[in-house]
This record gives sequence, structure tokens and C-alpha cells, in this order.
Amino acid sequence: MSEILLDKFLDIFKNDILPLTIKGVDAGNKIFGAAIINKDDYSLVVAGSNNETENPIWHGEIHTLKKFYELDNIMRPKEKNCIFLSSHEPCSLCLSGITFSGFDNFYYLFPYESTSDEFNIPHDLNILKEVFNITDGKYMKENSYWKSYNINILLNEMKNANKKKLADSFNEIKKTYIDLSKKYQSLKEKNSIPLK
Ligand SMILES: [Zn+2]
Repeated sequence: MSEILLDKFLDIFKNDILPLTIKGVDAGNKIFGAAIINKDDYSLVVAGSNNETENPIWHGEIHTLKKFYELDNIMRPKEKNCIFLSSHEPCSLCLSGITFSGFDNFYYLFPYESTSDEFNIPHDLNILKEVFNITDGKYMKENSYWKSYNINILLNEMKNANKKKLADSFNEIKKTYIDLSKKYQSLKEKNSIPLK
């Protein structure tokens, strides 16, 4: 994994995804966000954030896909030429959304266990178990449609001198997500989201 790409991912969380999520959480939405990036030059195509207060299927990833397909199709890159970036490991809805959209990859910052335990959102693991009979979130992490990547594992595997700089940047982003999560949890009883 290239250090430049990891650095770019963290940059996009800080500068493009989190500013949208801060506004979203203020409006009562969850903390999940996503972005679509060009594979060739790592430039941002579109970023988005959860908007479940408007529509319960506007998860961070699905709302980002909605924005992507609202771009003029002359301007819009082909899905296979894009990287799909997500703040949290995609739920069953978003796994399917990414698959039906034809992306061949996705990268996420926080795995299911973290979503459930650190961010107090248990639905992803529960739905996989209840609806699909998949325990412990063990869907096919690599399959004929796409390959998925846990950014945390990629960061930990890095061996060079910049590892600490990237880890510091990750920790700063994580702290922002933890703070936003506390805010969401404190406000959630007032929102209209069916699965809070
Ligand atoms: Zn989802």
C-alpha cells in the first residue's frame, strides 16, 4: 500500500468527509461518511455523509453514491477507475450498494467491532446475523466483485519513518469521530431514524 494513498485518505477524512459529518450530526444524523476518489491521481470526485433523518437508507455510502450519480455522466469517472472510501466498514445495505454500482474495491477506517463497541451502533453486525445468518460480520471480504481493505491494518503494516505521522493523523481523526459519536448518541432520542 502506498504511503501517498494512505496520507491522501486521511486528508480526505479531515478536509472533505468530516466537515460534512459535523453538519450532519448537528442535524441529528449518524457519523458515517464516504468519498469516491480517482484511482489515477487520487483526486476527490465526491464526498458525502449520513443523511438518515431525510431518508433512512441515506447511509454515508449510499448518500455518497447518490451524489456521484447526480454528477453529469460526461464528468463522472467510470466506477472501475475509482476508489471507494468509507469511514466505517459498510453495512449489508452499503455492501450491496457498492457492489451494484460496480466498484471493484472499498477501504474503510473503522471495522464492525469498532462501530458496535466504540461507536455504539450495533445494527451492522445484528442485521448480518438476523437477516443473513452471518456471524461476527464474516462476509466475503474479497470476492469476484471487489476486494475490501481495513485502513487500520494497512497503517499498522507500514514500516517506514512516516508511520508515526500517519498514526498521529489517524488518532486525531478518530478522536473527532468519538466526539461526534458522543454528540449523536446524546441527541438520538429526538431524531426520527427507525434504527438509531
Ligand atoms: Zn450502510
